[in-house]
Amino acid sequence: MASSKSSYLIVGAGVFGVSTAYHLIKKYPDASVTLIDRDAYDADSRVAASWDWNKVVRADYDDIAYCKLGLEAQDVFRSDPLWKPYFHETGIFWTCRSEYAQEVIDNYEKLGRKADLFAVSVDEAKKMYGGLFDDADYSGVKEVLINRTSGWAAAGDCLQAITRESLRLGVKYVTAEVASLQFDASGRCSGVKKRGGEVLTAAHVILCTGAFTPKLLELSAQSSGLNGLRADGRIVAGGITTGMTTLDDKTHAKFVDMPVGVQGYSAEIGPFIGSLPPTKDKELKWWGQTIFTNTREVLPGRSISMPPPEPDYAQWKVPPKLKEDIDHANQVFYGRKGEGWKMDKYRICWDAFTTSADFIISPHSASNGLYIATCGNFHGWKFFPVIGKYVIQMLEGSLDPSLEGKWAWDRERPDPKFNPDWPRTEMREVLEPVRTSKL
Ligand SMILES: Cc1cc2nc3c(=O)[nH]c(=O)nc-3n(C[C@H](O)[C@H](O)[C@H](O)COP(=O)(O)OP(=O)(O)OC[C@H]3O[C@@H](n4cnc5c(N)ncnc54)[C@H](O)[C@@H]3O)c2cc1C
Repeated sequence: MASSKSSYLIVGAGVFGVSTAYHLIKKYPDASVTLIDRDAYDADSRVAASWDWNKVVRADYDDIAYCKLGLEAQDVFRSDPLWKPYFHETGIFWTCRSEYAQEVIDNYEKLGRKADLFAVSVDEAKKMYGGLFDDADYSGVKEVLINRTSGWAAAGDCLQAITRESLRLGVKYVTAEVASLQFDASGRCSGVKKRGGEVLTAAHVILCTGAFTPKLLELSAQSSGLNGLRADGRIVAGGITTGMTTLDDKTHAKFVDMPVGVQGYSAEIGPFIGSLPPTKDKELKWWGQTIFTNTREVLPGRSISMPPPEPDYAQWKVPPKLKEDIDHANQVFYGRKGEGWKMDKYRICWDAFTTSADFIISPHSASNGLYIATCGNFHGWKFFPVIGKYVIQMLEGSLDPSLEGKWAWDRERPDPKFNPDWPRTEMREVLEPVRTSKL
């Protein structure tokens, strides 16, 4: 149980870890709360998916649980002076090739929430926002969802600000790589071992380690002999490419008030693709359509997907094939308008996937004292202001039963073939030129 005198070791200072630390220290100011991360919270470059120029903030979900959670998070973004500076309510423009628009509108209605939210035909959509999206890909599009209350957040700046606030409230921050988990003689998780050997102990160890989670569990299973620790397909590390162009002043003036753009595709075609409005440095961003695993031998005879072994996950080494992904994203949003744009930044970003796209916020069934709170399938950032509250409810056993089931470590998991965002390529296929063999 969580309590005022207890101790918490949170591994990973992305949105899941920092939100948990922030809510814990606010609820239990006398508790010992420590965040441990391989990167300093104010480092110039971090591997966290949560650390980014910007992220989409929306409640436009066909799943009512995430719609509700998204609305709760946005209420904080709009009203709390700590969070408010980072949220930009630009609206969203979402091409829908299914019933998605209507399902979102229905969810808002069921939740009794009013918003400037509606669906328009393709012809109407092309005329909106000064025709910014009139040359987009509308193949198979049924209608376009417009929600003027959605938007984006300055993700890295916000992460740093909330971490600073948590430290001010009493959270400790340790910059170190965790090599493995530690267990007492009964098999209870008692802490972590840092690379270099030092051990930190706590009554609760919460893994918020994103894409690295399956690897850390494999290494810990091997060092402890507790084979049940392994993720065994519950969590899969997946990567995706983002890219940016800097708009010239004239183009920037046209795009400055644009909404977030989303191209929604079905699982047969591919994942949804996005474009984010210009940052304060006039940088327009996209994410691509190739989502990949990096399956490697982690230990003799054990292969899993994991981020590349470099300390920075080799996130800035983007191969030409993935750069083409960003050209494609540019094309499906802006067509001829974007033809001359030069891409000046690329990054590969790693997140933790589940087949259902649900988070895992749960005790780990193989060891008392060990908890998991992570997984994002590229959609976890927006819940930053509130997700830690739910992690505490999980620690205290008071999570709503429907969420407890949805976010459980052990649950039935759907076939990923229905999940458009499930990784469908191996990283080695986009790194190496495909060779045709000759006889
Ligand atoms: C390209 C991209 C676009 C996205 N767009 C959106 C969006 O628009 N809106 C949205 O809501 N969500 C979006 N997401 C999803 C969102 O970013 C993630 O779901 C969320 O940030 C995951 O948070 P996390 O705390 O679980 O993991 P992370 O943010 O990855 O943090 C994990 C942390 O754990 C640390 N760590 C891991 N292992 C160890 C170890 N052994 N020792 C020490 N430290 C360790 C890492 O250093 C890292 O800081 C996107 C994701 C990507 C990749």
